[in-house]
Amino acid sequence: MTGHEFLHAPGPTHIPDRVLAAMHRQPLDLVDKRLKDIAHSCFADLADVFRTKGQVFIYAANGHGGWEAALANLCVPGDAVLVPEVGHFSNSWADHARALGLEVISLQGDWRHAIDPDAIEAALRRDSERRIKAVLAVQVDTGTGVASDIPAVRAAMDAARHPALLVADTIASLGAMPFEMDAWGVDVAITASQKALMCPPGLAILAANERALRSAAVLPTSQRYWDWKTRMAEENYRAFCGTMPEQHIFGLRAALDMITEEGLPAIFARHRRLAGAVQRAVEVWAEAGALSFNAALREQRAVSVTAVRTAEGIDADRIRTHTRETLGVSVAGGLGLLSGRAFRIGHLGDLNAPMVLGCLAALEVAFIQLGVPHAPGGVRAAIEFLAEPDAG
Ligand SMILES: *Cc1c(COP(=O)(O)O)cnc(C)c1O
Repeated sequence: MTGHEFLHAPGPTHIPDRVLAAMHRQPLDLVDKRLKDIAHSCFADLADVFRTKGQVFIYAANGHGGWEAALANLCVPGDAVLVPEVGHFSNSWADHARALGLEVISLQGDWRHAIDPDAIEAALRRDSERRIKAVLAVQVDTGTGVASDIPAVRAAMDAARHPALLVADTIASLGAMPFEMDAWGVDVAITASQKALMCPPGLAILAANERALRSAAVLPTSQRYWDWKTRMAEENYRAFCGTMPEQHIFGLRAALDMITEEGLPAIFARHRRLAGAVQRAVEVWAEAGALSFNAALREQRAVSVTAVRTAEGIDADRIRTHTRETLGVSVAGGLGLLSGRAFRIGHLGDLNAPMVLGCLAALEVAFIQLGVPHAPGGVRAAIEFLAEPDAG
């Protein structure tokens, strides 16, 4: 296909040329001071992005590895964790916890609404024996396009006076929307490199506060690779439990420079603006009755991904395949319960308005070609939204 391909999945996301270029170099000797400086500057800048004074850990792993790293440091087999179900990713995290021998107490959700803080409070109050070690909360479930209110989860935990740790999955939200690890009382936050951080897949990044570190320090961790205690070292070789994934870190350094230059407030405003444009288009398309938002409430719609349901009889995967194969635009498919019944437009990371308009226009082409009922004018509505001086 000629021209640029448009990657509009909610991860992996488009990688800026500057990040790719930064990775295009030979590895350095493991004891080269430059390597240590780069790694330490990444740890410091990542703490700023998480908005924490806590400790940052970087693993050669993906987001699933990040989940495991957190659980391996905080829990031992037999411990219980509380998982509010918000969609595919909260459920996969719960499966992961079960596979590690943990007891999962799941709070059922309908995949269309955010975490219900009252249900958390009630579940913690019922746990009179204080067996629940951690609450596992996903800030944006990428499978559903729903964003949850993490401070409300903390408030519910405090109201129940329960000592569980709050562990947040910010894989699809850190660097796209506000996250205030320390101010919100989050004990551990998990992210991955290939979403709003604009890097290739391959790094799981965690931040842990004092409380979480203290809790981990007394556990007999046997899973050496994840172990925070050995990774709290100065030397890279210990901080990364072996050879640092050097090119990934070179890329991450460039991405963090870009984040610093743009500034988090401007980045969040850009995400709100682009999400607003996508969601205006979907609102118009939906008037014909065949397409609809998965997130039931407007205020719970994520700024990083929009999941669009298709009516009975309309194969969402066909739209996705057609758009990718004939138009060079990749959107994601539905996951789990939404498999074949939704497509998902990623709008996070290194994106601007013309890229988003290109994606929306390509989708409209596909709707016409495939006969998907949609009210015309979605792209026009997005353009008008973006033309407003204070869009977003
Ligand atoms: C992408 C994603 C994951 C999984 O990350 P992988 O790198 O694919 O393992 C987990 N949680 C959320 C919210 C995600 O968006």
